[in-house]
Amino acid sequence: MKILVFGAGQLAQMMYLAAAPLGVVVYAVDVNSREVINPLSKVKLDMSIEYAISDVHAVTAEFEHVPEDLLDLAEKSTKLYPNMAAILTGADRVREKYVLDTHNVANCPHAFVSDLSQLDEVLDTLGTRLIFKASRDGYDGYGQWRLSKREELEQLKHAFASLDLASVPLVAETMVAFDRELSVVGACNASGQIACYDVAENLHYRGQLHVSVAPATDLDEATKRQALQMFTTIASALNYIGVLAVELFQTGGELMVNEIAPRVHNSGHWTQHGADTCQFEQHIRTVLGFPLGDTSSKGVTAMINIIGCTSFSRDLISIPGCHLHWYGKELREKRKMGHINVVAANYRDLGNKLLLLLEYLPEEYFPLLRTEAQRLIAFDA
Ligand code: AMP
Repeated sequence: MKILVFGAGQLAQMMYLAAAPLGVVVYAVDVNSREVINPLSKVKLDMSIEYAISDVHAVTAEFEHVPEDLLDLAEKSTKLYPNMAAILTGADRVREKYVLDTHNVANCPHAFVSDLSQLDEVLDTLGTRLIFKASRDGYDGYGQWRLSKREELEQLKHAFASLDLASVPLVAETMVAFDRELSVVGACNASGQIACYDVAENLHYRGQLHVSVAPATDLDEATKRQALQMFTTIASALNYIGVLAVELFQTGGELMVNEIAPRVHNSGHWTQHGADTCQFEQHIRTVLGFPLGDTSSKGVTAMINIIGCTSFSRDLISIPGCHLHWYGKELREKRKMGHINVVAANYRDLGNKLLLLLEYLPEEYFPLLRTEAQRLIAFDA
């Protein structure tokens, strides 16, 4: 069988690798050049997008910012999973907030800004500690502006003056003083069955995910249930088929949704070695209508992103339970170049392995790793 993926980055590459043992071939569309390529070798394949859609059994996306005409083509073929509306919901923060609000899923207090004249009123309503997010095309902290006091508003208005807010409004959110960030990644199939992985705890630095640990430490049953309930509500609201990720803020026993990603997700990469069926295989299974795989964890796992860095020793793979995934991309500042998964029997072992890992890595590119290792060791002490 064959699948076509919109987007030709590392997520399509990892889908390709996970699909191969099932006898499933994955093609990818580079949405910029509009060429169909092999997502591993990046070699151009001699076929049009239209032909590829007709030739495959399912079409999916590795990212939400796919041009609408391509999604439309795929939707018309009735092979697109998840559906176009679900993908567009992940691509547009206004649509996303609408889905969350209409289904009573807790999220950050917010307002929409489609004209600069609305800003003063937004501050009156939401307060002056705010984060403004472009409703489309923002990711990893790009397209975001923070405000900590009213006096900074004039400066922000200058920054916003060049934006076309009528076409792409901003979403203003109150800055939430959360305790930590979590995510729930899971899959839904056509019969409405849902299989979620253990909730992951995610550590960000300057707007980018650096480390995920799963299962999250110290997560009580009630909060876990809350996370699963939120996932289920969103998945059924979107009529979802495939792997879905829901990013959460935890404050005490309360969860709020930060973002929905209608696709396999960076905070689910740990499943490649830490769960029975990884998120990439699970996505392939669901979009092709195969049975869902077991999502149970095999131990405790950390996923460490390698960001903007190539200068490390590959000998890190000598650490038991440590696996490297390299995306083969050209080096750029802040670019995700690869990731490392480390699996251990318990949090203390995991912390010790992360300390060992630091001997192979330039620590300035992994600013959170040492404190996280120490926290995990202390957690299990
Ligand atoms: P996002 O692109 O919306 O996922 O935002 C990137 C990161 O910015 C998140 O992972 C949080 O660390 C932080 N962030 C986003 N929204 C808020 C908020 N409303 N309050 C506090 N921090 C936030």
